[in-house]
Amino acid sequence: NVRVRYAPSPTGFLHIGNAQSALFNYLFARHYHGTMVLRIEDTDLKRNVPHGEDSQIDNLHWLGIDWDEGPDKPNPKYAPYHQSERQALYHRYVVKLLDEGLAYKDYATEDELTEMRDQQRAAGEAPHYDGRWYGRSVEDQEAAEAKGLKPSIRLHMPPDHVYEWDDIIKGHVAFNSDNMGGDFIIEKSNGMPTYNFAVVIDDYLMDITDVLRGDDHIANTPKQVAVYEALGIKMPNFGHITLIYNPKTRKKLSKRDKKTLQFISQYKNQGYLSEAIFNFIAFLGWSPVGEDEIFTRQELIERYDPSRMSKSPAYFDQQKLDWINAEYIKKLSLDDMTDRILELVDEGQTDVAKQVQALNLPDLREFVYQVSKIYQTEVHMLTEVMDKVVFYANILQSDIDYSQLSEFDHDDVVSVLKSFEKHVKDLGADVADPDFKGMIKAVGADTGVKGRALYFPLNVAFTGNSSAPEINEILRLYSISTIVDLLDKAIA
Ligand code: GLU
Repeated sequence: NVRVRYAPSPTGFLHIGNAQSALFNYLFARHYHGTMVLRIEDTDLKRNVPHGEDSQIDNLHWLGIDWDEGPDKPNPKYAPYHQSERQALYHRYVVKLLDEGLAYKDYATEDELTEMRDQQRAAGEAPHYDGRWYGRSVEDQEAAEAKGLKPSIRLHMPPDHVYEWDDIIKGHVAFNSDNMGGDFIIEKSNGMPTYNFAVVIDDYLMDITDVLRGDDHIANTPKQVAVYEALGIKMPNFGHITLIYNPKTRKKLSKRDKKTLQFISQYKNQGYLSEAIFNFIAFLGWSPVGEDEIFTRQELIERYDPSRMSKSPAYFDQQKLDWINAEYIKKLSLDDMTDRILELVDEGQTDVAKQVQALNLPDLREFVYQVSKIYQTEVHMLTEVMDKVVFYANILQSDIDYSQLSEFDHDDVVSVLKSFEKHVKDLGADVADPDFKGMIKAVGADTGVKGRALYFPLNVAFTGNSSAPEINEILRLYSISTIVDLLDKAIA
């Protein structure tokens, strides 16, 4: 029975790299009909941020990633799911390793350790713990205690020992204990476990079968293997997912890459669809057989195959993301598209959302619906539709300056406007999709007015603006009676 976990630290908002780990664990769990566990790794109290956990959970839900066990769905066999509540469990295993002589107390002070590393660097060595407290006498320990020093606990690694595993993604990986920075801390002097220790105890106690995480953790894994060996317990399978890279710098995507959106909430606020982001992320580090790139969540679950996870960097491709999002927008029903836009407006997280909020239109939903209808096949993001909503609503609400029309022969202007009004009235009240362009041609034929003199008065009448390339579209937003009103005002 497959059990995987996604183990975020609530040290910030959900980053696209976190989402990638969560998503592959989710696909793995669902593909194998296994169990997905959410565990909160919150032992680094200083780095936890307020609402970090809640917002990450909200964003995971938004992406369509759910779990079977977690703080909100505890299984009594495995709870609790916050590491901060599991300290006693970790400590029990620390005591066991101390009793067996496999771990030891280190009373070296921070200053002493800094000096040690400086000296190693000066001697051209990689900094490492030199084992100075390994095998020390009880008297030494008591003397340190008498000075009020609090020990951290280190795991002893045998020298020249190979820690290895067959990685689901990277293949066989091996590290030598001589190159791992020396004996490492498993419990800090404040009694908190370190990540490399807590994660092993949790994965073990939670019966995790497969650990999929970012390959930034690959140097942690041999330490975890060392803990499994010291405790004599079976380790899970490990798979290290390639990180996401910036194609321009060819480096790991970093928070300094200002041009790329980094947090899932930013994608959401910009009007990317959750199913498009899910689809896009699934291709960061994995690909199915064949050329197709648009898949529903269910299709991805069916097709997911860990043996097709990539060993090489996943380059973030903005154009592809926008293309995928546009494809998903095209598939939405207009009602759904309208609802999603209105939700973004309600949340008011972007300038354009606030602008739409401020519009004060009599029927915002209908207006958004009509604008969506016009632009559905053209936009890449829902915020682009919101820009259009603001643009057209401003046209509708602005006072029109008719003095611009004096440039043209007054009689021509009036006959163009009247002729257009006649054509509009002939439509009757409920015409589904009027051909306004055709109508303008007919007005030209009726009145003999051509070119600018024909378009200009109509543009001004409907938009207040002499150049309005979208006139045909604008008219679709207006009811017939609004069109007639605007023409009457212009004629008067
Ligand atoms: N809390 C760790 C992180 O956020 C989890 C790493 C792991 O999956 O083991 O990176």
